[in-house]
Amino acid sequence: MNAYAPRAQDISHLLLDVLQADRQLAELPALADNADPDLLRQVLEEAGKFVDEVVAPLNREGDETGACWQGGQVTMPPGARDAYQAFWQAGWPALSTAPEDGGQGLPTVLEMVLYEWLSGANLGWTMAPGLLHGAYECIKHHASPELKARYLEKVATGEWLATMCLTEPHAGSDLGLARTKAVPRADGSFAISGTKIFISGGEHDLTDNIVHLVLARLPDSPPGPKGLSLFLVPKFHEDGARSAAVCERIEEKMGLHGSPTCVMRFDEATGWLVGETGKGLNAMFLMMNAARLHVALQGVGVLDAAWQKASAYAQERRQMRAPERRDPSQPADPIIEHPAVQRILDTQRAWVDAGRVIAYQTAIELDVAKHHPDTVRRQQAQQWCALATPVLKAAWTDQGFHGASDCLQVFGGHGYVREWGIEQLVRDVRVAMIYEGTNEIQAQDLLFRKVLADQGEGLKNLLDRLQADLPAAETATSARALEAFQTLKSMLPGLCQTESARLYPVAGDFLRVVTLTLMAWAIHRLESASGANEKVTVAFARWVWPEAAMRREMVMAVT
Ligand SMILES: Cc1cc2nc3c(=O)[nH]c(=O)nc-3n(C[C@H](O)[C@H](O)[C@H](O)COP(=O)(O)OP(=O)(O)OC[C@H]3O[C@@H](n4cnc5c(N)ncnc54)[C@H](O)[C@@H]3O)c2cc1C
Repeated sequence: MNAYAPRAQDISHLLLDVLQADRQLAELPALADNADPDLLRQVLEEAGKFVDEVVAPLNREGDETGACWQGGQVTMPPGARDAYQAFWQAGWPALSTAPEDGGQGLPTVLEMVLYEWLSGANLGWTMAPGLLHGAYECIKHHASPELKARYLEKVATGEWLATMCLTEPHAGSDLGLARTKAVPRADGSFAISGTKIFISGGEHDLTDNIVHLVLARLPDSPPGPKGLSLFLVPKFHEDGARSAAVCERIEEKMGLHGSPTCVMRFDEATGWLVGETGKGLNAMFLMMNAARLHVALQGVGVLDAAWQKASAYAQERRQMRAPERRDPSQPADPIIEHPAVQRILDTQRAWVDAGRVIAYQTAIELDVAKHHPDTVRRQQAQQWCALATPVLKAAWTDQGFHGASDCLQVFGGHGYVREWGIEQLVRDVRVAMIYEGTNEIQAQDLLFRKVLADQGEGLKNLLDRLQADLPAAETATSARALEAFQTLKSMLPGLCQTESARLYPVAGDFLRVVTLTLMAWAIHRLESASGANEKVTVAFARWVWPEAAMRREMVMAVT
């Protein structure tokens, strides 16, 4: 089985040469001291080493042994606890949390790169720390000072892991249907009762405590989403008593066997309110947005891992004669010389590279939105994050799965058997299209909440801002990006005038048009930086971009 390895140099090039991340971050007083190129490079090198040496080797065992449930306890696969303890002690979960909370205060983009690599190396294991940052933001911004004093640092440093308990058997995409109850007690705590399903990391032995963030409804709350409040329920209380939050069983799943997906029963478990009553979903959204960017990077990471494996295999495997570059000394040519195989590989490379440019810029914008001294720049950054997050989540989890499946094709029958590890990637990444808001829900979020809610103004502003990167139609790539921007802008008046019921079926197609437009910009950025990969530019132009015309036609047909 050929392995996946993080490539720190590629990321340094993207961050420093393509995005000038150091210069962008230097404008933020809170991060300026941590924006030095040498520091960024050094952190990436160390992170890559940790992922490669500690986390990646556990991937196969995690899949084969899986997490085990017995009598309410979950034992993680061999090595998982030691790896997590090493991860925590080395300070990796605290990479971008604030120094005053015990964190290292480094730029968010480094954390995003770390989680992309972890996902490529071992998605099952990565599910556990994947929710930490969102939980940290949620507690930091919404919890009372007493709760923060007890839990913030533990979560900020990753000493304790956290969960997000939203889903119930009858309430998935529609969380407004959630029934879990929260009954106030005289001491200010609440008795939480109900069943939550599909809870990632609801129970495990990675950390000594687990902090559950649970959506529940007060007895006098109105029905629907406005009646939901958020509660913090620890697995163990401060006095060491076990809480009445119990893992009833774990799911048997298609993939992610190393991650326990738990059915959690809360039997009058003691919890504390986080934020205001009836504002639970608002508080959760903070957590969900951070989590959505992580999930987008799961797609990127797994796609890169699939590409690395398939590329290595295609260099070795020889079958038939290639139309060009034949090697007469051998009875057959490496399959990488077959144009059909090259097309598969170069297409995935274009998705990975363009996805990274957009995702890393989004991570930088997250910091700009928080820390930039200029209000206008902060607002621009918020707009960027609002628009780019659903696009990244839906498009790159979709490509993560379909692209990994295409990479499996490169192995022929050898990809379908376990030996090469490619089938595990396909199984593991499938769920990323479903959790953190299904991709259908992301598409509706983009079209209705983010674009049409302000008559397309926000999207137009974002495109205008990106257009500043395209000084003139100097190359085919920049000309394509300019054309993409104009065409997308020209679609907006028609969409604004169309009855929304007609638009629902094509929300996903609209998301693809926005995706491909942003990719056209990203490919231009890659090309204009030195060391651009020509294969990526060509693959985008030939095999990816043409989809935009088809999607546009589908959308405009209903207007
Ligand atoms: C491995 C795994 C881990 C998970 N981890 C967590 C976790 O840690 N915490 C947690 O709370 N949840 C978790 N989930 C739950 C996950 O978030 C839900 O599965 C997801 O939100 C979808 O809900 P559902 O499965 O009930 O599907 P449903 O909501 O029933 O949707 C079924 C289908 O209908 C579509 N659909 C529904 N409503 C609409 C609409 N309005 N418009 C268009 N299409 C629609 C959906 O897109 C989907 O295709 C996890 C799930 C899995 C499988």
